[in-house]
Amino acid sequence: MTEPLLAHDEPHPVTFENEAGRSVFFLTCDHAGRAIPRRLDGLGLPEHETERHIAWDIGIGAVGRQLSRLLDAAVVVQTYSRLVIDCNRDPNVPSSIPEISETTEIPGNRDLGEMARAARISEIFRPYHDTIAAGLDRRAAAGRASVLVALHSFTPVFKGVARPWHAAVLYNRDPRLARSLFKLLSAEDGLVIGDNEPYAVSDQTDYTVPVHGERRGLPHVEIEIRQDQITDPAGQTAWAERLARLLPAAYTEMVRQ
Ligand SMILES: [Zn+2]
Repeated sequence: MTEPLLAHDEPHPVTFENEAGRSVFFLTCDHAGRAIPRRLDGLGLPEHETERHIAWDIGIGAVGRQLSRLLDAAVVVQTYSRLVIDCNRDPNVPSSIPEISETTEIPGNRDLGEMARAARISEIFRPYHDTIAAGLDRRAAAGRASVLVALHSFTPVFKGVARPWHAAVLYNRDPRLARSLFKLLSAEDGLVIGDNEPYAVSDQTDYTVPVHGERRGLPHVEIEIRQDQITDPAGQTAWAERLARLLPAAYTEMVRQ
């Protein structure tokens, strides 16, 4: 018997709020957290690295929770840093537990043994995705429709290159909801919206949308918001209110087509 990764007094890897919410939308925040299990000793990183975008999606947890309240929608939020294990990657791809992120080496992820890798999967990745799957299963069993909205945020500057988009919609096999949301977001005053950029959904770089959206045949969209837009509470509220207004409109538009 190996020692568990998470001690009893450490936070649970997943919070599931407002499951009884009446909205058709089901929200996820794969990268909302930046906690690191005590046993991993900060992954060998200086504190300031674990506050940067490489550790988490800055601002998105607050946007997701506000959006959940405004829409009366369920929201599933990950507690631990994506540097511990990336909850939006298949655990079989090498970047699941990155040895390098942007240009930062992660000492605590170097030459990780099978047991250590398995513990991160079973104690952090698996409970998170099991929570999403069980929530969606219960809705389906109750005859409730679900529309998956995967929320993320991206850094304004990556490897020295500035990004012009304020936000983006991402998709792969089913672009329906993304396309109608893209139209509505692009019509907002002063917003530059990325259409599958700076990232696009793929089976190698994503997990939540391919597994819980595409495979279940649920309408879905992955939304990326640039982090400088949602660093402070005013920006978080503005984006939550904008998405609470536009997501239902985009879904209505999608259904009509
Ligand atoms: Zn993310």
